[in-house]
Amino acid sequence: MTAATTSDEGNVSVVVRVRPPNPREQEGNQYSTVQVVDDRFLIFDPDEPDTSSVFSNLKGYDGTRRKGKDLKFIFDRVFGENATQQDVFEHTTKEILDGVLNGYNCSVFAYGATGAGKTHTMLGTANSPGVMYLTMVELYRRIEAIQEEKQCEVLISYLEVYNEQIQDLLSPKGNLAIREDPQKGVVVQGLSFHQPKSADQLLQMLANGNLNRTQHPTDANASSSRSHAVFQSRKAHIPYRDSKLTRLLKDSIGGNCRTVMIAAISPSSLSYDDTYNTLKYANRAKEI
Ligand code: ADP
Repeated sequence: MTAATTSDEGNVSVVVRVRPPNPREQEGNQYSTVQVVDDRFLIFDPDEPDTSSVFSNLKGYDGTRRKGKDLKFIFDRVFGENATQQDVFEHTTKEILDGVLNGYNCSVFAYGATGAGKTHTMLGTANSPGVMYLTMVELYRRIEAIQEEKQCEVLISYLEVYNEQIQDLLSPKGNLAIREDPQKGVVVQGLSFHQPKSADQLLQMLANGNLNRTQHPTDANASSSRSHAVFQSRKAHIPYRDSKLTRLLKDSIGGNCRTVMIAAISPSSLSYDDTYNTLKYANRAKEI
């Protein structure tokens, strides 16, 4: 027996996706708070402004040197403004799908402030479907490919954590409680499970579930835990250790499990604090 794990076998991978600046963020005196150095390394509020960024073309930007926080972060992967949905899928959930089919619990969730790109990453649009869609299509493809040797069953649930209240989005019935079951681990009491027969049917269920969301009806921030899916929204300032989301993910983040956390950030100085907080949370999650 060995206690060591290689990074390949590590159970939590933390990636960061920086979305492109929107038109409002390109007006006025804003600057880019994030410099993507390579596919694992980013600098928050760099000392040296990033001259490759669209922000350096802004009127009002005079190129003078500004002293930033210059915080350097290494993540399992960093996706810059130009990363496609396919890029994100290839380097996040695609890598853990084999784990799912081999009996590992796997979980992926997006974290970040409102407007940082969680919905775009997870759901996407009809023209540019997100990680959830790409993952489900691949999951069903692989299940079909091995159906001679393995019988797989897909069960899904879809819940929202909002203001520390847990809501079943597929069968709403008020706030649900979290319970620690000696056999099953952390369970949400009364959460409904459904059996979609295809990726499209599954996504239809999620689309219906979105209609039941408290806020942001098109927003879905997290997916797939074990054979069911957990899709959640979030409050940033609940202490990490105590939040319902942390409790829910406790099972996913230890033992027989692979978790991918996708931290979504805006590159704009308008979101300076949000980006800073998200990077700090993501950095802590690496240590789990
Ligand atoms: P959140 O779900 O975190 O509140 P959204 O995903 O809704 O944020 O993103 C906010 C806006 O930015 C949306 O208009 C979305 O289309 C756009 N956006 C986010 N990420 C990207 C991206 N990688 N490429 C292009 N547009 C993006």
